[in-house]
Amino acid sequence: MSAFWTCMQSAGSRRMKARFEKLCVCLIVCAGMGAPAGCRTPSSEAGMTPEAPLKFHLAWAPSVMREQAALGREIGRALGEVSAFFGAAGYPVAPGDLINTVVILEWTPEARAGLAESFGMRSEDLLETLAGTVVERTLYLVVETRYRQIWESLYPDWPWEADTYHRLIVHELTHRAHEAVAMARLGSADAMGPVWFFEGLAVMCAGQFDRGDPPMTEEELAGHIGEARTPAASYPLYGRLVRSLAARHPVGDLITRASQPGFPYERSKDK
Ligand SMILES: [Zn+2]
Repeated sequence: MSAFWTCMQSAGSRRMKARFEKLCVCLIVCAGMGAPAGCRTPSSEAGMTPEAPLKFHLAWAPSVMREQAALGREIGRALGEVSAFFGAAGYPVAPGDLINTVVILEWTPEARAGLAESFGMRSEDLLETLAGTVVERTLYLVVETRYRQIWESLYPDWPWEADTYHRLIVHELTHRAHEAVAMARLGSADAMGPVWFFEGLAVMCAGQFDRGDPPMTEEELAGHIGEARTPAASYPLYGRLVRSLAARHPVGDLITRASQPGFPYERSKDK
């Protein structure tokens, strides 16, 4: 089994065209915004509120139909945290520019079929560990009970906690904000850098897999990511790599340099 829950942050998924409108009941809820807790950065600032209400599509998740107001607040809080994180890094993003629609689904055959059609995929090609993704301005999430099943099967060493689902939401929205920053800077999501970096950044922003380990040494870092190596796929490792780099460099500087050859190491003088 994959060591990942699947957040589908890939070039392919970014090109997917969501076509779920005809399959879903559209419910609209105001995303009430509490004060953001901040994104585990020392200088987080208060997040902003989305200018427009989020649209919720819950036809695939009747079990949470009554919880949509609370979900709206949860997502609004996550948007505030992500906005504060990127703002502190010198890349301000407006929460209202990130998403305008939320699709939440239970892992039923009907929901899987509809989701696969939305993504232009075959239902059997959807990974069992799919937990969430953002396509264009739509945030897709499985319901919390489904995510807990995935989490407990993949991460027995990391106990489920009260905010584990919230952290998933922050993780997915971090990708959306990071992609928006990359597109604004260089016109391509490739500017998000290597997979270990953009996943590790999302893990760090979301406060996932953090046991307060000390930063890795230079030698440890180089062993994992020196000479453009791709480390073994692991969210806990990716998070630790980016936290270790963030202990040495400003996060905004890392975001800026992520797409340079040989990142995070300087390019050789003779190119
Ligand atoms: Zn991810």
